[in-house]
Amino acid sequence: MFKVSILDGYVDEPSCLGVPPYISPYPRYIAGAVWSVDKFAQIFYVTIDQLRNDKLLLDVLSESDIIVVIAGMSVPGRYLSGFPVSPNELVSFLNGLSSPLKILCGPAARYGFGISGGKKTRETYFVENVFNLIVKGDGEIVLSELLKNKSDMDKIDSLKLREHASDIRDFAVTGSSIVCQHPFYPDYLITEIETYRGCSRSIVGGCSFCSEPSKGPPDFRPIKDILDEIKALYKHGIRHFRLGNQPCIFSYMAKDAGKAEFPRPNPQALEQLFKGIRTVAPDLKTLHIDNANPGILARYPNECKRIAKTIIKYHTSGDVAAFGVESVDPIVIKKNNLKATAEEVYSAIKLLNDVGSKIGSNGLPELLPGLNFVFGLDGETKKTFELDYEFLKKILDDGLLLRRINLRQIIPIPGTKMHQMGNKIVSRNKRAFQRFKRQVRENIERPLLKRILPDGTVLRDVVTEKYRGKLTYCRQIGSYPLLIGIPGVLPLHINLDVKVTDYGYRSITAFPFPLNINTAQRETIEALPSVGKKRAIRLLAKRPFKDRKHFIDSLDDPDIGNKILDYISFK
Ligand code: SF4
Repeated sequence: MFKVSILDGYVDEPSCLGVPPYISPYPRYIAGAVWSVDKFAQIFYVTIDQLRNDKLLLDVLSESDIIVVIAGMSVPGRYLSGFPVSPNELVSFLNGLSSPLKILCGPAARYGFGISGGKKTRETYFVENVFNLIVKGDGEIVLSELLKNKSDMDKIDSLKLREHASDIRDFAVTGSSIVCQHPFYPDYLITEIETYRGCSRSIVGGCSFCSEPSKGPPDFRPIKDILDEIKALYKHGIRHFRLGNQPCIFSYMAKDAGKAEFPRPNPQALEQLFKGIRTVAPDLKTLHIDNANPGILARYPNECKRIAKTIIKYHTSGDVAAFGVESVDPIVIKKNNLKATAEEVYSAIKLLNDVGSKIGSNGLPELLPGLNFVFGLDGETKKTFELDYEFLKKILDDGLLLRRINLRQIIPIPGTKMHQMGNKIVSRNKRAFQRFKRQVRENIERPLLKRILPDGTVLRDVVTEKYRGKLTYCRQIGSYPLLIGIPGVLPLHINLDVKVTDYGYRSITAFPFPLNINTAQRETIEALPSVGKKRAIRLLAKRPFKDRKHFIDSLDDPDIGNKILDYISFK
């Protein structure tokens, strides 16, 4: 039997995320390409984190006929449950495996390996001796050709791209069952769904740092294709979905896309898509979106208001539309051909606040904007940081809400204008960037977080993911989940509701809600408001508590007891 292994080294691109708990479309399409040629092929899917933890998995990889590695981080990210593979790891893991044919796909194959923000990519020649084939085209298309040609590499074109979005229709459906092999399957896995690729602004060259214009104008996947894929994923047990694989969800099926830089949105198509998803996946638990172009929202407020209402009607709460702002400095905007002015971004933020700020069932607002800023762009000066700060301060002062502010330094991707400039502006403004970041974290983000989640807010369906010391880190499943620290060590991968007590710059402290005071760990009790170590030890000695009175009587200060009663239960 023909054996293929897929090693998922994870991708993080401007319009696609595949770091756990996400699985990107890449491995699903690749699996579909293999099964479309040989339906009996045995496919083994493994993540880089599984391999890091268990080197014996290399034995399974070595028995494959083909190993396909998916890798590439072209935007810098912060991760909790997985970390993208590095080129060094690929060399050390795969160099010794001589017999399988080794193929590299994904953004790393196209642009090199992004290491971190502000740093140049590491070129693929570093791993050239490890791989038999580095696919700069579309992995699933090239692999399908390779298999049809009995693995004869002379007969294929490794640059080959899909000609139309429909080329991947069957791959997407056939490959959907590969999700069952993911370590987060079924309850904690979120599938990234592609609705289209390419950017309408490619006709004017696009933004100076972005790789998306190289894919040309938008090539929309038909609604039926997307629904068929979601239906297949749902059939295999997937309940969390994010429509994250496109530059702007508000522009899906925009009528004059490809002709206009800012095409008019198509609210009917979005209604059909979202309604269709709820029909094929009726009991889904997460339906979120990702990127949105603020220039589109500012130009077409009526259409975009309708679309935002449609999203809210069918999605799950806590949703985020990530606006690529990059900078509000007019000089930087002009030199880098950015998509929106400060005024346009402001009006897009206001629009989403008007429609989406109501609190939803998971304790978070329905749909809020998140802002992405990029530093190290052409024309950036000290003044840029001042203007960006003033802009954010105005949003705070005007009482608006933002779900997140992402401050990144560019990764100069080959093929973009910024690649020629490299990271010299990043190096020049390094200190200004650090100072700016600190100011934003302290003076803007923290107050915004308190505004969104007032003290005592209950967040539903939080999943425990990782320990750091005596702290358990958790998140809700979805777009840009908030990091939540719970004092104490809880079992991993359980769902619970939590009550917010304190705020970091970009994270919160919370307690399981209600907290069973008779079974809670010392570290958790100790961290309850005003309790501390000594009181916690005294409380532990007096357990079990029968009721509220028994508990209050056992504390030296009834005011503290009454405060804690808001958090606890006795069974
Ligand atoms: S608008 Fe700019 S950042 Fe967004 S996808 Fe197009 S080129 Fe990239």
